[in-house]
Amino acid sequence: MTEAIDHLSLYRLPWNYSDNGISWLEPTTKCNLRCQGCYRDLENPVHKPLEQVRAELEVFRRLRKSDCMSIAGGEPLLYPDIVPLVRMVKEMGWKPIVNSNGLALTEGLLAELKKAGVFGFTFHVDTSQNRPKAKDATETELNAVRLELARMVARAGGLACSFNATVSENTLAELPNLVDWAREHADIVQTMVFILFRSPELSGDGQGGEDSARLGNIYDNAEWGGETAVFAGDVAARIRSIDPAYAPAAYLNGTANPDSLKWLLATRLVLNGKVLGYVSPRFMEVLQTSNHMTKGTYLAYATPKAASLGKLAATLGSLFDRNMRRILGKMLLRMALHPPSILAPAHMQSLMIIQPINIEPDGRQDMCDSCPDMTVFQGKLVWSCRLEELNKCGAFIASEKFAPASRPG
Ligand code: SF4
Repeated sequence: MTEAIDHLSLYRLPWNYSDNGISWLEPTTKCNLRCQGCYRDLENPVHKPLEQVRAELEVFRRLRKSDCMSIAGGEPLLYPDIVPLVRMVKEMGWKPIVNSNGLALTEGLLAELKKAGVFGFTFHVDTSQNRPKAKDATETELNAVRLELARMVARAGGLACSFNATVSENTLAELPNLVDWAREHADIVQTMVFILFRSPELSGDGQGGEDSARLGNIYDNAEWGGETAVFAGDVAARIRSIDPAYAPAAYLNGTANPDSLKWLLATRLVLNGKVLGYVSPRFMEVLQTSNHMTKGTYLAYATPKAASLGKLAATLGSLFDRNMRRILGKMLLRMALHPPSILAPAHMQSLMIIQPINIEPDGRQDMCDSCPDMTVFQGKLVWSCRLEELNKCGAFIASEKFAPASRPG
């Protein structure tokens, strides 16, 4: 059941084209997995020379502020210069976040990355990957892989740990198990990201003829992806089925539809495994604004230490927001009923839903307005999810009108 969420009741994240929470760097197209719905052509993998990557960072520095730099790919841990690259990103003023499937992560490499200044990891783990040692695992069973990675990062100490999972119609039913798993491990997992499966496949080669290059069905009915596109409201309803308090606070809208929930952010406070509530839109606004006033950038990632300051957040938030007062009340009650929780930290944990491109029946493409995952192509900032159109055709592909019933999404 899809859940209607009124975007106007939420805080619109202030992120924009030139001043954003996140930027996106791809040093390599080499990968050791083949995830369904991957946006990148992995057939002819290349590692970019480190100097080229530095030049891309200079483009970011000239055109865009951001709190962090996502180092993605391909699989960034296969990049031979990953350690010097992390150091370079850090020295140039960003928080380096490694977006990895985690397969190549060892304790030794983790220690080197930490020394180089890595801020944290976002691990992509889901059933679309056919992971070597977990080929037949369900999404729920993959929680064991997630836990192994989260614990490894926690042992290194002080590093942010997030997970993302692509979600399709076929895996939606298991999503509550991931949300619940994250709650249990709120002390070592700061963010869960659910990315809705889309497959913006190119047909044709773009070399001539009216139909030679088309942005095909946004959803190609791949076996893993099922028959019907999933939307942010579907995921929100599933989260609420396991966590009735679920209440998103902030969003990014679509470029075609102001009310599409392209990035939908909720942050909950968890004390001793119990959800106390979700931070309010106003709290999120104060957080983003104060970070920008004091640090010059909008906040995207926090350290585990900062994320464990949920009690302080609830106390300060209660000074200006009724919803935060409710959370504080629940916290005080819980501490009164369970005195050991007086000394325990309350962890702030974020749940993000990302809904990539949708194509409207009139042919308009609904992208994430203020895209956080902009990357560099030939000196310009472009959507990383559509880089292959530029690589193969030299331009973004326009889409055609279609009968709504003939294309989901
Ligand atoms: S528009 Fe940007 S944020 Fe949205 S899916 Fe594409 S790359 Fe990601």
